[in-house]
Amino acid sequence: MSLAASSITRLRQLLVSGEISPLDIVEDLEAAITARDADVGAFLSRDLAAAREAAAQADLSLPLGGIPIALKDNINALGEPCTCASRFLENGYLSPYDATVTRKLREAGAVIFGRTNMDEFAMGSATENSALRVTRNPRDLSRVPGGSSGGSAAAVAAHTAIAALGSDTGGSIRQPASHCGVVGLKPSYGRVSRFGLVAFASSLDQIGPLTRSVDDAAVLLQAIAGHDPADSTSLRTPVPDYLAEIDRGVSGMKLGLPREYFGDGIDPAVRATVMAAVDRLQAAGAEIVEISLPHTEHAVATYYILAPAEASSNLSRFDGIRYGVRHGGSGDLLDLYRDSREAGFGPEVKRRILLGTYVLSSGYYDAYYTRAQKVRTLIRRDFEQAFAGVDAILSPVAPGAARKIGENAGNPLQEYLSDIFTLSANLAGICAISVPAGEIESDTGTRLPVGLQILGPHLGEASLLRVAKAAEATSTPA
Ligand code: GLN
Repeated sequence: MSLAASSITRLRQLLVSGEISPLDIVEDLEAAITARDADVGAFLSRDLAAAREAAAQADLSLPLGGIPIALKDNINALGEPCTCASRFLENGYLSPYDATVTRKLREAGAVIFGRTNMDEFAMGSATENSALRVTRNPRDLSRVPGGSSGGSAAAVAAHTAIAALGSDTGGSIRQPASHCGVVGLKPSYGRVSRFGLVAFASSLDQIGPLTRSVDDAAVLLQAIAGHDPADSTSLRTPVPDYLAEIDRGVSGMKLGLPREYFGDGIDPAVRATVMAAVDRLQAAGAEIVEISLPHTEHAVATYYILAPAEASSNLSRFDGIRYGVRHGGSGDLLDLYRDSREAGFGPEVKRRILLGTYVLSSGYYDAYYTRAQKVRTLIRRDFEQAFAGVDAILSPVAPGAARKIGENAGNPLQEYLSDIFTLSANLAGICAISVPAGEIESDTGTRLPVGLQILGPHLGEASLLRVAKAAEATSTPA
């Protein structure tokens, strides 16, 4: 197997035993990118010279020593572009600092390698809202990779990255992981520092890993988790050893199946694939119980009020003065703001800012924003009640497999509705992971991956990973 197609854990063995050098991995990845990225389009930029230099100096005694990691292009890395796939930041913006996750990866010995495509400012579910390039699903180039961390998922699936970081505000790690057939973990809110992540919706955003295996997800989470004085929402709770109990299996565990997640609107082939994964966990010793998350039907409306509200506030910093493009300026200051934002933002970002400004405006604030906050509390309580009786919850990640490029063009509502199964984890602040469950056949005969979503209680990553590892071990590899 090529180095570029290997897992972190396998590469670490080869590095430590001296069979390969970190430079070998970087060169293999470069060759893979040259061979495949023109088709897939996962990367926005990469600094080969910096990667080679970091590889040459990598300290192999560190946990990620010599392992290249790609970053979604909304995570800052000193001296590198951070475009958020937006025209606003396309030309000339270079990060003046490392995000905390970037610093932690470097401190663990990783080589920062490449910046991946995404929906503009992480708003979307298909990476089609990128203003900068098209990313295709490596399993079927006529289809989307999912989003918004579509470049990260596609790179890991195409063997052009060993592993990558993404961000997840409403599903953006888990859904592209499911669509591309890789593992994607959204940590609990507060587990990983958001310092240096370009904010979309600050009460929902978390950074997490996209990897080839559950072990690799645990290794990366270990490296990036923990308290950070620069992010007041990061928690002081100690970080457990995520590999310590990962192989214990699911025997004796109670896993919940929420009836609201298996109803109408889900592709029967997706449902069957997810149920087959559930059956395998049962055969491996888990007890499966039906549960209810009664407020699920309100998740889409709640999220699409709160996330745009926060986005409209967070994105006000893009004004043509401090960051990125500047347009206008012949008139007064307001003209400069308006012209810069008109030219810099794409249509979906503008839609979110309009939505968010509307729900926060006086007269509508209580009717929309305050009400949505109340429903958010009800959704969080649904999970608290459920986790009083089960160790983890099993569900689909998305109602369908990867769709065709362009299929939902001009129909944002249809796109929002497809986020139904992932949004609630962010609203509740809990952890969740997508693990490959199987494949379904598309109408053109391609085989499309389908993920199993596993949801765990707040800060329950260790047992979440344990269930995920059991699901991975019992699945039939693609
Ligand atoms: N698809 C959702 C949205 O468009 C979630 C995006 C995300 O998690 N960043 O807002």
